Amino acid sequence: MLQSQLFTKTRKEAPKDEVAKNASLLIRASFVDKLHAGVYTYLPLGFLVLKNIEKIIREEMNAIGGQELLLPALHPKENWEKTGRWESMDDLYKLTDGSGKEYALGATHEEVIVPLAKQFVSSYKDLPFSAYQIQDKFRAELRAKSGILRGREFIMKDLYSFHRNEEDLNSFYEEVRGAYTRIFKRCGIGNETHYTFADGGSFSDYSHEFQTVTEAGEDIIHICKGCKTAINEEVIAEQKDCPECDGKSLETRKAIEVGNIFPLKTKYSDPFELTYKDEAGKEQPVLMGCYGIGLGRLMGAIVEVCNDENGIIWPDEVAPFEYHLIAISGGDGEAMKQAQEFYEELKQKGHTVLFDDRDTGAGEKFKDADLLGVPKRIVMSAKTLEEGKVELKRRDEEDSQLVAREDLLG
Ligand code: ATP
Ligand code: MG
Repeated sequence: MLQSQLFTKTRKEAPKDEVAKNASLLIRASFVDKLHAGVYTYLPLGFLVLKNIEKIIREEMNAIGGQELLLPALHPKENWEKTGRWESMDDLYKLTDGSGKEYALGATHEEVIVPLAKQFVSSYKDLPFSAYQIQDKFRAELRAKSGILRGREFIMKDLYSFHRNEEDLNSFYEEVRGAYTRIFKRCGIGNETHYTFADGGSFSDYSHEFQTVTEAGEDIIHICKGCKTAINEEVIAEQKDCPECDGKSLETRKAIEVGNIFPLKTKYSDPFELTYKDEAGKEQPVLMGCYGIGLGRLMGAIVEVCNDENGIIWPDEVAPFEYHLIAISGGDGEAMKQAQEFYEELKQKGHTVLFDDRDTGAGEKFKDADLLGVPKRIVMSAKTLEEGKVELKRRDEEDSQLVAREDLLG
């Protein structure tokens, strides 16, 4: 992508109405824009990051057999009355159309997927299966001050699984745990993200959250120094032992929930009478699990963890580009000309490149490069040309080095 053609621009100043670091950095670097509290646009650069996160999640969901679909966001009131959540869910957006008919905007999708599953499940032979989507959710969040960590409209991956018995549910639950662990590792925040025991509601002893340690977090977790598993403060404030390894030494930190996995069991199959016939022909309730990840929240959490005083430091797999190629235009324009050729060459070899071809000074280009946070910066100037090389610097390292162009093409 040519930086001169990008319709968005970086900002020198942090927006005054944002307290959260993720929003401040993402807006300054022109990855997102705030339309109003809790509602953000993903601009071209931010959209590239979002798509990378989506790709990682999709690959890991497909790898455990999740079948992707897309459920509607506009729901009939009746479905929400059936589960009691039309009344009990405080943050549900309710709409009335011109004819007086009422609807809910999808805050979550049990109310849609369970009646859908009912059309296709009748026998034990139809189970197990799991289905997921990546889609906008709407919630009237009271506090929307955390940038893209807490939106009123936000993108979620929600997976739902359907089983004959608890054994089958539990084994799939562990598979999802593995997939989530891989997702957060690939997103570059594996070390900061902890598998956390949380409230199971009335149907289970526990649910589990994936909590990323950051000062911007809204939850308090106690992390086992031995196995890194954590307990959410909301469940067992007085518990001081690790539930997984009996470790006694817990460290208390603020964290943000980037994902969760929840054994719903029959909580939603009951109201919709989602049942199957077992081998003996007896009707049995279908057991369910649900598993969420907020994509915007995940992107915000990455920014909260991966930054320095100069800007964002994107982990490789989610970065908008692999290279940020910077041409320092000298008197004769030779560096710009050669950079243009190198840009084409890099693209031809399958690399993703942001090419700063703007007619601006080196200082401004370097500042913007640090703010944007592309992992590898290449500089071509009269000086590097003299050496017959280019300068390479990783965003997360101090020192640069001179390397041959061929070394970057491979
Ligand atoms: P929280 O306790 O932070 O409000 P939640 O328990 O309401 O989260 P779920 O309903 O389980 O969250 O949603 C699944 C995932 O969706 C969460 O793990 C989180 O990553 C994401 N998520 C939830 N609410 C929001 C929001 N308002 N904005 C962005 N992402 C969200
Ligand atoms: Mg919530």
